[in-house]
Amino acid sequence: MSSTTDRHPRLLPSLAPLLEKPPGAGDEALEAHALLNDAIAARATDVHLDPVQAAYRIRLRIDGRVIDAMRMDAAGGLRVVNQFKVLSGLNPVPSRMSAEGGFSWQGDVDEEVFLRVTAVNCVAGEKLAIRFLTSPHSFRDTLDLGIGEQAAQGIRRWMDATGGMLLVAGPTGAGKTTTLYTLLNQLRLSDSHVVTLEDPVEYEIPGINQIQVDGHSGLDFVTGTRSVLRLDPDYVLVGEVRSPASAQACLNVASSGRSLMGTLHSRDAVGVVSSLRHLELTDAEISANLGMVIAQRLVRRLCEQCRSQGAPASEDIEWLEAIGLPIPERVWLAKGCPHCNDLGYQGRIGVFEVWQLTPDDHARILRHADEAILRRALLERGEVLMLSDGLAKAEAGITTLREVLRMGAILSH
Ligand SMILES: [Zn+2]
Repeated sequence: MSSTTDRHPRLLPSLAPLLEKPPGAGDEALEAHALLNDAIAARATDVHLDPVQAAYRIRLRIDGRVIDAMRMDAAGGLRVVNQFKVLSGLNPVPSRMSAEGGFSWQGDVDEEVFLRVTAVNCVAGEKLAIRFLTSPHSFRDTLDLGIGEQAAQGIRRWMDATGGMLLVAGPTGAGKTTTLYTLLNQLRLSDSHVVTLEDPVEYEIPGINQIQVDGHSGLDFVTGTRSVLRLDPDYVLVGEVRSPASAQACLNVASSGRSLMGTLHSRDAVGVVSSLRHLELTDAEISANLGMVIAQRLVRRLCEQCRSQGAPASEDIEWLEAIGLPIPERVWLAKGCPHCNDLGYQGRIGVFEVWQLTPDDHARILRHADEAILRRALLERGEVLMLSDGLAKAEAGITTLREVLRMGAILSH
């Protein structure tokens, strides 16, 4: 669980006054609805109601970070918890393990949202985690994701050709799915046939054949790809490649002249080769089929209303010195204003490295080259790696050095 220091009561302007007053008759889910409206206005993706000694605290996940928003007394906390349990069809009596429910809701916003509610019994009381399930955001083009023009051109060329594998790499929560959906958006759906294999299909996309992988009915990843090939697709999009069986299934699609797109857990672009080796693909199979890797992380975007410039913090200086980079005199800093709820940041942007494999790279993989050799080849031909992309975005005032440092710390592990 992330640690939080600051409390931001301003994030909950409509809930706060309700908790001051005794509960009245009328809307039976008054506080829950106020909380949801506030959370949506703050662009939260998750709401946590956590029991703490004789009280409850509300925390919101905004731009990937958990923010402590408010503390409620036990009575107020239990009232809100029970309202959510009624709304989501959960048993009011706390279960011994955990329980999951959900409901759809239309508040002060135009769009209906679906919420998944998980109740877990903790030592201090019952905890609720509420997640907004909205359709994955997709952008008009790859430039909007934060991918540079040259790399974007490479991706377009890959997509215009057919056959081979494109993998989006990164840890959980790095924005891989958004990137995949954005690529999907770019395919001309009228003159190409796209099939997806998903587990589960959460959002329906018009014009695309989506197949749900379901282990219980016998349609697993492997049998699924077999059925998919009979549908004669041009592009096959899968979720995460995570087992030797799914890696093999992807290979079957890619080697049959179709284009395969999927995601993979990996530290960086060249790390994909190691991951595929771990998933029992041979060097020959990887070399013959891997066409492009997009590796990414997400950093928070500086609020453009209040970002400012100043001297770098000592932590930033130490880090830059440690990795042998020059120390700038002035850097962009996060400040905070009403526009960004005092967070200093608003929204996120991707930091990328796009690796288009060359014949030389394929030859290196065939010779069982390790990550260090593959990375050196990328650097020698002047490719932009994630750290450089992040530093360029910090210099341009899109994000801060601190955000890139957090990402760099992950990269150096
Ligand atoms: Zn601001």
